[in-house]
Amino acid sequence: MTLTLLITFVVLILAVGLFIFRAIPGVRAYFDYHGKRLVTCPETQKPAAVDVAAGEAAVGAFLSEPTLRLKDCSRWPERQGCGQDCLQQIEAEPENCLVWKVVSKWYEGKNCVFCHKPIGPLHHLDHAPALLGPDFKTSEWKDLRPENLPGVFSTHQPVCWNCHVAESFRRVHPELVTDRAAEARRIW
Ligand SMILES: [Zn+2]
Repeated sequence: MTLTLLITFVVLILAVGLFIFRAIPGVRAYFDYHGKRLVTCPETQKPAAVDVAAGEAAVGAFLSEPTLRLKDCSRWPERQGCGQDCLQQIEAEPENCLVWKVVSKWYEGKNCVFCHKPIGPLHHLDHAPALLGPDFKTSEWKDLRPENLPGVFSTHQPVCWNCHVAESFRRVHPELVTDRAAEARRIW
């Protein structure tokens, strides 16, 4: 009886050890492939925003290798039957194509067009910085469609959160504000 218990215990320990050993790559795969990404659609050669089925990739990594499949794309549902060839771009650089990373890179080293303060690195808990468009309206980058961001970055200027709030207020209530926007427009 004691020997049976010992064998059961050893088998249990081995099973738990094996589970943890396989769970680590599974959890890693989930975090590697979770989140909205920007790719160049092989069909149009234009940016597309995609999501990988991170849960499936995690299960695949738990069993052997992560299996990548698109869960969503900005070109769907019209092109839902596509070959998902863009997955190769994600496999090659899973982190660099994350929308968050692309946006962080763009704001890196840039100053607010109004107050000239550095925008600084992006943080998930901070207010999002904004953008000033050619129409002199500011908008948060998070409110724009991710697949449009690469184009927007070539026509817009960086704006810090505080100036975005001030400019939005100025736009909505011009009668309540003594204008400082003309200065920024001259600079821009
Ligand atoms: Zn500012």
